[in-house]
Amino acid sequence: MSFEQICSAGEKKEIFIPVPNGKAIKAYWMEGSKPGKTLIVTAGVHGNEYVGIQALQELIHSIRPQELSGRVLIIPVVNESGFYKGTHLVPEDGKNLNRCFPGSVQGSLTDRMAYSLESFLYGKADFILDLHGGGVTESMTPLVFFPAGAGEKVKKETSAAADRLTVIYKVQSYADNGLYSYAAKCQIPALLVERGGGGKWESAEVEACKKNVFEIMDYLKIKSFEPVSPLPIEIEEACYEEAENQGFWYCRKKPGESIAKEEIIGRLLDGDGNIIQTCCAKYDGTVLYLTHALGVSKGDPLIAYGKPVR
Ligand SMILES: [Zn+2]
Repeated sequence: MSFEQICSAGEKKEIFIPVPNGKAIKAYWMEGSKPGKTLIVTAGVHGNEYVGIQALQELIHSIRPQELSGRVLIIPVVNESGFYKGTHLVPEDGKNLNRCFPGSVQGSLTDRMAYSLESFLYGKADFILDLHGGGVTESMTPLVFFPAGAGEKVKKETSAAADRLTVIYKVQSYADNGLYSYAAKCQIPALLVERGGGGKWESAEVEACKKNVFEIMDYLKIKSFEPVSPLPIEIEEACYEEAENQGFWYCRKKPGESIAKEEIIGRLLDGDGNIIQTCCAKYDGTVLYLTHALGVSKGDPLIAYGKPVR
């Protein structure tokens, strides 16, 4: 399918990405008046991460296609049923869409959504920006994950793009089964931005998120944007602590705080007050995000911290 068949130059069109035996995913195609690159921006892969969703809701009205060189495809709410239920997962089958790539046409709904997204989006994208945030139980420092494990070419390009973003940290990522990370594995440059948390959203965070979208549009020369922010701090090694059992989680840190090697950063206790897990920092670093919920289940994330590149 050529781009011209989707939308004519300088126009915006609502389109629907079909999902086999499922509800189509709504998207907005904005075709610039001049030729250029194609940016795909997604939010709501996790239905209760609101900052990116609201940012895209606003951008579909404020971006003027006639001012673009290239095109922008926006999907504000990928996991719509999760969004309306206020959940992270796809409620129909309880799966995490960001762990289901590559998808499968024979699988349950989440697998089929992944299949549809990669079939429709990947071939069209010069760049994918996927917007996330901390869930209801999480607190987060604004950061971008870039695919350090997807080969030198993609790593180099996405690292340069990440440097254009106004975020605190850029974190090397080795994931490969999410919308953005599998795209990167398929050699499509892609980034994942995390902003906001606690199941909340505020106007200032939404504005900061919209700025990140404009920064990537500027990087791709789709539309110029006044940049100049300090470079994010690159994190080369991230540690993701998970709960070894269910329990009461007492975290001693806040997002963005420094940690020292061997410092106790949190403890997990059982219901009788016995320590079942002590999280000690493996190296000097900084806290990226953490679970602020008191009660956690086995396997839940507890805290993520990383080591800045010196
Ligand atoms: Zn997410």
